[in-house]
Amino acid sequence: MNFSKRDQKHNWHPYTQHKTAADFPAIVKGKDALLWDENGNEYIDAIASWWVNPFGHSNQVIADAIYKQLTTLEHVLFGGFTHNKAVELSEKLMEILPSNQKKIFYSDNGSTAVEIAIKSALQYNYNKGIKKLKIIAFEDAFHGDTFGAMAASGITFFTEAFKGSLLEVVRIPVPTNGNEDKSIKALKKLVETNEFAAFVFEPLVLGAAGMVMYQPEVLDKLITICKQNNVFTIADEVMTGFGKTGKTFACDYLEQKPDMMCLSKALTGGTIPMAITTFSQEIFDGFYDDDTNKALFHGHTFTANPTGCAAALASISLLQTDEIEANILRVNQSHLSFQEKIKLHPRVQTTRVLGVIFALEIKRESQESYYGNFRNKLYHFFIENGVILRPVGNIVYILPPYIIENQQLEKVYSTIEKALEEIF
Ligand SMILES: *Cc1c(COP(=O)(O)O)cnc(C)c1O
Repeated sequence: MNFSKRDQKHNWHPYTQHKTAADFPAIVKGKDALLWDENGNEYIDAIASWWVNPFGHSNQVIADAIYKQLTTLEHVLFGGFTHNKAVELSEKLMEILPSNQKKIFYSDNGSTAVEIAIKSALQYNYNKGIKKLKIIAFEDAFHGDTFGAMAASGITFFTEAFKGSLLEVVRIPVPTNGNEDKSIKALKKLVETNEFAAFVFEPLVLGAAGMVMYQPEVLDKLITICKQNNVFTIADEVMTGFGKTGKTFACDYLEQKPDMMCLSKALTGGTIPMAITTFSQEIFDGFYDDDTNKALFHGHTFTANPTGCAAALASISLLQTDEIEANILRVNQSHLSFQEKIKLHPRVQTTRVLGVIFALEIKRESQESYYGNFRNKLYHFFIENGVILRPVGNIVYILPPYIIENQQLEKVYSTIEKALEEIF
């Protein structure tokens, strides 16, 4: 039996209804923007394996750094110890993060990065004897699948089963073009109540919602409102971080700086699971006390895993090369040309581009559900044509490894064009 069939016996996949799911291709090899399955079929990874892989699969530079670290110090506990790689990585992050970010807390996935930010906002207030128990988030946001992160997420069918067991989160509209004032008004009304500890948001691009975009100017306004009302701001850059938007962080487009940031996907170039939550000095100081109980009692066994730190250091050094910078620009230019070409297609509702992210909404008579039939038809069409894309309802987006070749990008575009002709 092949891996694809053997898989079904024991593996439970994410976001999958196994009763109706087809067999999954079993990937056995990856190089640069390509993946191969056990039958030798080739796929272009046009979504960088859920947005984690900027520098290509099986990247030699990162692999060498990992091998070297594995044979020097693979892991040591971070409670009561530190190690050279965590120190170096934190120092490196200080060079590239917004200047108000001063402290780094390590964990191992995007959800926990958000979880830690939310817990810190709540405990900061608790430590000061202030009662602020609620959080503000965008409608349609996605912040992860653990309880705190899930509560902040607005994609309802992800969270419906857990209503009643969740932290209290109040939502404001996403400030897309034309909705800026609605969003600002809603936020102003909430912060006046003094009940909110933090506003958590995906800056400029809501990834899981279908690469929904809004402008930095309105986010600056929202952050300013929070600052004036002592509500902490948490920028969830788990998706947008490390070059996706054309700058190192989406927050680099802003005048204002968030109090906390969450990073994970792409931090280690898609190799070792790792995440960080970063903090302003003010937040750290809210825990800094003679009283042990005021410390942040949160940790994970693999916190600041040295192998992950080594992978992240190699990854950030790649991100800072002229070659990668040029690749990000090239992909962006390529997306913009495709956008010009496709935007007047009779089946295209709207298109948007930021950095290496391209999204296109297909016109439909009625709203398409997230994992609905139309979406599934598109998904399988792309896979059958050797292109990995995961449409969200009627939204098709591309977020490729930055090193994807022009001819591979052309194939991704032409496959989308073909889908527009054939899939109804
Ligand atoms: C993917 C994602 C998360 C969750 O990260 P995991 O590593 O899957 O837990 C959180 N926030 C955003 C914006 C994401 O895109």
